[in-house]
Amino acid sequence: MDFHQPTSLDQALALLAADPEALPLAGGATLMAMLNAELIEPSALVSLSAIDELQTIEAAPEGGLRIGAMLSHATLAAEGRLAGGHAVVRQAAAQIAHPSVRNIGTLGGAVAHGDPSSDLPAALVAADARIEVAGSTARRRVAAEDFFEDYLTSALQEGLPAQPAGAFGHYEKFARVHGDYATLSVAVVLAMKEGKCSFARIALGAAGPTPVRVPDAEACPAGLRPG
Ligand SMILES: Cc1cc2nc3c(=O)[nH]c(=O)nc-3n(C[C@H](O)[C@H](O)[C@H](O)COP(=O)(O)OP(=O)(O)OC[C@H]3O[C@@H](n4cnc5c(N)ncnc54)[C@H](O)[C@@H]3O)c2cc1C
Repeated sequence: MDFHQPTSLDQALALLAADPEALPLAGGATLMAMLNAELIEPSALVSLSAIDELQTIEAAPEGGLRIGAMLSHATLAAEGRLAGGHAVVRQAAAQIAHPSVRNIGTLGGAVAHGDPSSDLPAALVAADARIEVAGSTARRRVAAEDFFEDYLTSALQEGLPAQPAGAFGHYEKFARVHGDYATLSVAVVLAMKEGKCSFARIALGAAGPTPVRVPDAEACPAGLRPG
């Protein structure tokens, strides 16, 4: 198996376009397990670890944050700029497995793998994230809600839009034992105006093949004053 370590996204995309059997390698948390179990047999691995563009988190020009795909869960869990409504992403990252997995696993790897039991998809849907999909000829942005299409199936870099004023995010994970995948998780972004709910976005994780929005609960009935 060939191994490549390009230093730019364009180089990585060219390598992947030239060899349809090659796979991008992030932290390898899932990919190496699948290789060891002989579930996949790629002709080459294209490591994304030396691409600076994928390692940054910065303010997006249109507001919000742009998060590189190679940021680890541990980095996101400690990222103070993921505040307000964006805190839902920080909290979900902090509840992934154990420190060793959080140090290896990446945002891009979790998103690309699309495991419905994983923690970040529901949080990204609740935060109304846009996922940037880069190909050799073009880049496009897909709403997180449309990105996760089925079990381990996605439309394939990250963008979090600006959140409503005063929004705050919260992520709850219920698991059989601490550090396990979720039995059910709830990601909520809520904004209050004059003491009343003015915006709500709720997504459940591990509740189906993709994150599940809860429109009835998001309706924010006039006068609702969460206790
Ligand atoms: C023991 C264990 C316990 C875990 N527990 C949890 C848990 O409780 N909650 C949870 O949410 N997750 C959990 N995970 C998943 C983990 O957090 C990682 O998110 C996941 O394994 C992906 O790892 P990675 O980022 O190293 O990607 P890799 O393993 O390197 O890649 C995964 C897949 O995504 C593709 N890929 C990677 N990066 C990109 C990219 N930028 N663009 C396109 N495709 C890409 C690869 O080709 C591969 O197909 C666990 C994993 C392990 C091994």
